[in-house]
Amino acid sequence: MKKIAAGILVICLLLSVSGVFAASPERVIIVFHDSPDVNLVGQYGQVHKTFHLIPAVVATLPDQAMKALSKNPHVKYIQPDYVTQYVAPLQMSISAEPLAQVLPWGVDRIDAELAWSTSTGAGVKVAIVDTGIDRDHPDLVANIKGGFNAIAPRGRYKDPSDFDDDHGHGTHCAGIVAAVNNDIGVVGVAPDAWLYGVKVLSKSGTGQTSDCIEGIQWCADNGMDVISMSWGSSTYDQALNDACQAAWDAGCVLVSSAGNSGVETPDGYPSAYSSVMAISATDSSDNIASWSNYGDEIELGAPGVSVYSTYMGGEYATMSGTSMACPHVSGVAALVLAAHPAYSNQQVRQTLWNTAEDIGAPGWDIYFGYGLVDAQAAVV
Ligand code: CA
Repeated sequence: MKKIAAGILVICLLLSVSGVFAASPERVIIVFHDSPDVNLVGQYGQVHKTFHLIPAVVATLPDQAMKALSKNPHVKYIQPDYVTQYVAPLQMSISAEPLAQVLPWGVDRIDAELAWSTSTGAGVKVAIVDTGIDRDHPDLVANIKGGFNAIAPRGRYKDPSDFDDDHGHGTHCAGIVAAVNNDIGVVGVAPDAWLYGVKVLSKSGTGQTSDCIEGIQWCADNGMDVISMSWGSSTYDQALNDACQAAWDAGCVLVSSAGNSGVETPDGYPSAYSSVMAISATDSSDNIASWSNYGDEIELGAPGVSVYSTYMGGEYATMSGTSMACPHVSGVAALVLAAHPAYSNQQVRQTLWNTAEDIGAPGWDIYFGYGLVDAQAAVV
């Protein structure tokens, strides 16, 4: 179903994209059939980035150059470097640090704490591809093992190894996956998983397709087990789809938020791509959140309403959104991989489907997919 819908969209978009190139120079992604030809593109305009995850070059080109390049037999397609953005939380409040560690309701609801006698996600590499992670947050720092900044050198960021969070969204997602089990703050779904901050979104929470692809490429190059993506766009994006597929082919588990528009998808990409698990948001009574997207591509539901987690500046915050649902599933994927290190990404995905708690209509449905992700059942 998902693949057919995506295929139809590809055709529609290829048809529409051919007519949208502006006369003034535009930042585009040129995708080649085999290897990216930087010299060729450099003859026509300014080259910004080159990728190997997909054979592509990012460049600013005048309209005539795009017409010429699109006729080159080595060029597969050319598309705009779209703007994407974090899935804006519906509610956000910064709270005082609790006096003692609390078990957030979502971690409790999916029975993560009951899985910890079997698996705590130890050593599984989870990339939070987002706005970065607060590098010295006391409730995260023990689990932060590295990262990458795809938007450097820009803004305050000079160094691609500086993935510190200047927005807050990525730090919140990181805490849902793997806040440390200690005596402070909160505890995450997989409290011994290794966190990697991959910054692809700016201080305003926006990024371009090329930044997102570069982040995903870093994940594939650096052996990330799970890629957690709490952002998206309603624009179908062939290059991003191809990059996600390449990361899947490299063995990564990809998880993304379905979107907060309260509509039947597809309007949430990358979650709707076939290589990516699309996650809807539930509340503490197992209802779907009124603003959660739903539809054919939903694979699982997870807690997303009033989720308490870490926030930048060493703080804590409560947020609501499918952005918060997604990292609950990323955390459970880490629990499964620590319990079953030999599992392929497909086996992890299948395990999450097969062990989900069936809520809503019996069997798979458009609101919760296979059901509410169930950490305890998933690690058996
Ligand atoms: Ca803690």
